Amino acid sequence: MENRTTGLTGNLEAEPLRKVSTEHILHRLREMFGEDRARVFVADSFRVADEPQRVVAFPHSIEELSEMLKLAADEHWRVIPAGAGTWLTMGNVPVSFHLAISTARLNRVIEYEPADLTATVEAGCTLAGFNQLAAEHRQWIPLDPFGDPGATLGGIVATASSGPLRCAYGTPRDWLIGIRVVHANGGVTRAGGKVVKNVAGYDLCKLYTGSFGSLAVIAEMSFKMRATPTSDKTMVFYAGAAAGAAEAERLCALTLRITDSDVQPSAMELIAPTNNHALPIDPKRFALVLRFLNEAETIESQIADAARIGCDFEHALLSESDAKTFWRVYHDSETDEQWDFSLRLNALPADLDAVIKDVNQLLPQATLRAHAASGVVRVLAGEDLFEGLQIKRRPKFIAELRKMMQVRGGQLLVLRAPEKIKDQLDTWGDVGATAHLMRDLKQRFDPQSLFSPGRFVAGI
Ligand SMILES: Cc1cc2nc3c(=O)[nH]c(=O)nc-3n(C[C@H](O)[C@H](O)[C@H](O)COP(=O)(O)OP(=O)(O)OC[C@H]3O[C@@H](n4cnc5c(N)ncnc54)[C@H](O)[C@@H]3O)c2cc1C
Repeated sequence: MENRTTGLTGNLEAEPLRKVSTEHILHRLREMFGEDRARVFVADSFRVADEPQRVVAFPHSIEELSEMLKLAADEHWRVIPAGAGTWLTMGNVPVSFHLAISTARLNRVIEYEPADLTATVEAGCTLAGFNQLAAEHRQWIPLDPFGDPGATLGGIVATASSGPLRCAYGTPRDWLIGIRVVHANGGVTRAGGKVVKNVAGYDLCKLYTGSFGSLAVIAEMSFKMRATPTSDKTMVFYAGAAAGAAEAERLCALTLRITDSDVQPSAMELIAPTNNHALPIDPKRFALVLRFLNEAETIESQIADAARIGCDFEHALLSESDAKTFWRVYHDSETDEQWDFSLRLNALPADLDAVIKDVNQLLPQATLRAHAASGVVRVLAGEDLFEGLQIKRRPKFIAELRKMMQVRGGQLLVLRAPEKIKDQLDTWGDVGATAHLMRDLKQRFDPQSLFSPGRFVAGI
C-alpha cells in the first residue's frame, strides 16, 4: 500500500504542531485587524478535512495579508491559503493547521485595459464576476474550470484548474502574465508583468500556478485576455449502438483524426454512456462532443470538415438551447455531490482508447469522461465504486490503477474520495525524481513549512 507519510520533509517532523486555542487565534487576529477580519466556521464552509471547526481570516488589502502572515510566522501558526474555500478538501489530509487565510475580501479589479487586452485583479475576484465585467467590452479570460461559480481567480491559478475549453485555450498558465505573492514571512514579491511580453529568466508565474497554496499566498494577478467569439455551436458524433470498448476505440480514432486535421474545436469531450438524462444527447451510446467558438462562417466550414472526417459516424448539431443546456448540465454534474470519488487520469491522447478500456474493465460502475484532445480521463463514481471489494483493499486498488497509468507514462490524481480512503493513500502519487526538486523549492520558499503542511506533492 502507498504510504503517504513517507514523503514528508524533515521540518514538520522536527517541529510538531503547537497546540493553540481557537479563542487565542481569534483574539490575536481581531485585536490587530478588527472584529470582522476573522471568523470561526463549523459546517462545510472552508472545510479542509474532518476538523470540527476552523478559524478563517479575511484580509482586505495586500498590506493586511502581509501583516497577518507576519503574525502567523511569529506565532508559528500553520496556514492554509484559501480563496472562496470551495475546494479545500483537494490534496492529502493535512498534517494539521491553525487557520485558513482567505482572499475572498481581497477582490478589487486593479487595472483593466480593454485596448491592451490585459487586466490586473486581486486574487479574490471570481472568474465568473470578472468575465461578466469584461463581457461589456466583448472580452474574456477563456477558462471554464469545473466547480463552484464562486471560485476565485487566485484559487483557479493555485489549482491550475481548467475545463473542456482547455482543448483550444489551454490552462491558467497560458493566460497569467504577472503575479504578486505574499510569502510566509510577510514579504511581498512580484513576477512577470502587466503587459504581454516574453518573460526573461525563470518564470515564477508558472511555479506558483498549480502550487496549491504550498509556496506563498497569491495576492494579485495580471492576465492577458481574448475577444469573445461571436458564435457558438456544438456537434455530437455517436458510436454504434453496442456500448462496448470497440465503439469507444473507434471514437478515439476519430478524435486523433480531428486533432491531426485543420478542424479546431474549442472543446472535444468524449463521454461514455451515461445515466444522466438531463444531458440532451443519447445517453446509451459513447459520444464525442465538439464545441466551436468562433465567427459563424468559420464554424460552418469547420463543422462541414468535421462531418467529412467523421462521415462513418452518426452525427447531430445541437440546437442553441440544447447546446446551452448540455454545457451547463455537463459542467455542474462533474462536481455533483453524488460522486464520492473523482479521479483524474492523465494519459497520452494516443493511449486514450487503452485507458478507457482498462477503466471500463476494472471499474464498470464508474462514469467516464475525457478531455479527448489532451488525454485527460475523468472517472466519477458513487460509493459503489468498489462494490464487493473489502474496505482495506480499496486504497490498494487505487494504487494499482495508478501503477497501470504510470506504466503508460501517465498519472492518476485523486480529486475526491471519502476521507477514510484518502487517509491511506497519496492523492498525488509518486512524482519520482521531481520530489527532490519540489522539497528543495518548499525549503527555500517556506522553510518552516507554515503553508498547507503535508497536503501537496511529495508530502510538502
Ligand atoms: C467539488 C469540486 C470539484 C472540482 N473539480 C475540479 C476538476 O475536476 N478539475 C479542475 O481543474 N478543477 C476542479 N475544481 C476546482 C475549481 O475549478 C476551482 O479551482 C476551485 O474551486 C478554486 O476555488 P476557490 O477560490 O474556492 O479555492 P479554494 O477552494 O479556497 O482553494 C483551492 C486550493 O487553492 C489554494 N489557494 C486558493 N487561493 C489561493 C491563493 N490566493 N494563494 C495560494 N493558494 C491558494 C488553496 O490552498 C487550495 O489548495 C473543483 C472544485 C470543486 C468545488
